[in-house]
Amino acid sequence: MGKVYVIGIGPGGEDYMAPAAKQAILASDTIIGYKTYVDLIRPILENKKIVDSGMKKEVERCTLALEMAQEGSIVSLVSSGDPGIYGMAGAILEVKNQKNIDVEVEVVPGVTAISAAASVLGAPLMHDFAVISLSDLLTEWEVIKKRIHLAAEGDFAIGLYNPKSKGRVTQIEEARDILLKYRKGDTPVGIVKNAKREGEEVTVTTLEEMLQHPIDMLTVVIIGNSNTYIKDGKIITPRGYHI
Ligand code: SAH
Repeated sequence: MGKVYVIGIGPGGEDYMAPAAKQAILASDTIIGYKTYVDLIRPILENKKIVDSGMKKEVERCTLALEMAQEGSIVSLVSSGDPGIYGMAGAILEVKNQKNIDVEVEVVPGVTAISAAASVLGAPLMHDFAVISLSDLLTEWEVIKKRIHLAAEGDFAIGLYNPKSKGRVTQIEEARDILLKYRKGDTPVGIVKNAKREGEEVTVTTLEEMLQHPIDMLTVVIIGNSNTYIKDGKIITPRGYHI
């Protein structure tokens, strides 16, 4: 009997991939994933069967991984960041249950984009925070908006995944307008593109000015809470220490 590893490769290169993830990849005979992610780990994929696929074929990818494992393959299904955060872990367990496929699935965690981005910005997530994806492909925009309102009202620092794509540009503007109802215009905002991988770009700005900077699908946006401040270019959310 084979097995499926659902692997988080972290934000980019090998340096930020857990040794356990690398071990699982080395133990696999087949690697399945979206081409961009497969390319990020290409150097360690010698002698592996590689099945790369398009972005929106998650269910097909999961079914293929499970079927190959049923036939005896050790398969690594790769996600960027952490597979349990907007990644493939949920999809594979759902497909396994729906199709009643009896195969072992092991989820291997990874450094998720928000942790990578926070590290580059300083310490913006030192207090309670919420993470919200602005993609309304699988979630209704009304639901997303409600979550933005509630996270803002609760004074959580907020991380936004999937903030803006070529065809989806208004959500980030609406999100910002909602946040301005609860937070001051000078609330610190960090915009990080390609955190901890080639092409890293970091912008430290404010809620008022954040839309003047480029934001795309390779970016996460972190909005501070009411106590967050900027010092020497770093964003800090105080934990409450008496220093
Ligand atoms: N499973 C992934 C998230 C996939 S959703 C994880 O745990 O990180 C895809 C979104 O993640 C992108 O639109 C972007 O908002 C964010 N993202 C992924 N990698 C990133 C990186 N290295 N730098 C900045 N944002 C990243």
